[in-house]
Amino acid sequence: DTSSRYRGRFAPTPSGPLHFGSLIAALGSYLDARAAGGEWHLRIEDIDPPRCPEGAADTILAQLEAFGLHWDGPVVYQSRRHEAYQHALEQLIERGLAYPCSCSRKQWQAYAVYPGWCREGLCEPGKPVAWRLRSDLARRPIYWQDRLFGEQRFDPAELGDVVLKRKEGLWAYQLAVVVDDAEQGMSDIVRGVDLLDNTPWQGQLQAALGYPVPRYLHLPLIVTREGQKLSKQNLAPALACHPDAVRLALFQAITALDQAPPADLADASPARQLEWAVGHWRPEHLRPLRERPLPEED
Ligand code: GLU
Repeated sequence: DTSSRYRGRFAPTPSGPLHFGSLIAALGSYLDARAAGGEWHLRIEDIDPPRCPEGAADTILAQLEAFGLHWDGPVVYQSRRHEAYQHALEQLIERGLAYPCSCSRKQWQAYAVYPGWCREGLCEPGKPVAWRLRSDLARRPIYWQDRLFGEQRFDPAELGDVVLKRKEGLWAYQLAVVVDDAEQGMSDIVRGVDLLDNTPWQGQLQAALGYPVPRYLHLPLIVTREGQKLSKQNLAPALACHPDAVRLALFQAITALDQAPPADLADASPARQLEWAVGHWRPEHLRPLRERPLPEED
């Protein structure tokens, strides 16, 4: 039965090399897939070229290889999937669920979310348009379950009409991720908890496009000692690929995922560490914390 088969993915945005925070998402999604005997795919989310420096995707592939995180099948690049996104947008337009919007952020800055002025086709002619989802018509997942954070509820009024395609013609993350996860048959999404708040929008889009809903497991975020999310913006150091650094970072990542590896695993090869971690993967041992501090340096 292929429909119940586990398919997972790691979907980095190549805005820079992987750092310790992204290793948690890569490793957590890998372990969850492999422990279930499932597939683990790699998707490079390069839909926003100005944010993605040349060569960053190749660096990410090399880093994953150095860590022994081998993916199944070909790497999918979102920059090559324009037609799939266009097709999905056209389906939404046909169903009356997407509309063009010429409003500027400045016009609706007094509101928490975009108030939907262009829904009835009243936008100013001749101006560039973004495309938005009609969240007043799309079915809304007000409740859903996260495997770590439990029941989630969202007030539909707080969501607003999410942008599907931007005025400059770039596809929005929300549309691309939903189309790709569905077309790639993903059964499980394992990613950082910073994306938890995006899930209801993705649920609305899945309902609007008639896609199945995957299971979700959001993982704690790694923060600096000052409590800041590790990111390329705050210059989190890139994961180094020499063997000692790989062994240490992998051991620290398994530990940060609350899997309590035996101390001597720190000296083992990446392949051996991963084998141990797949065999001992207990997602129920993860503590439902939104934030985890960066491991101390020795
Ligand atoms: N590309 C997104 C990121 O790097 C992750 C998308 C996802 O896992 O749904 O933050």
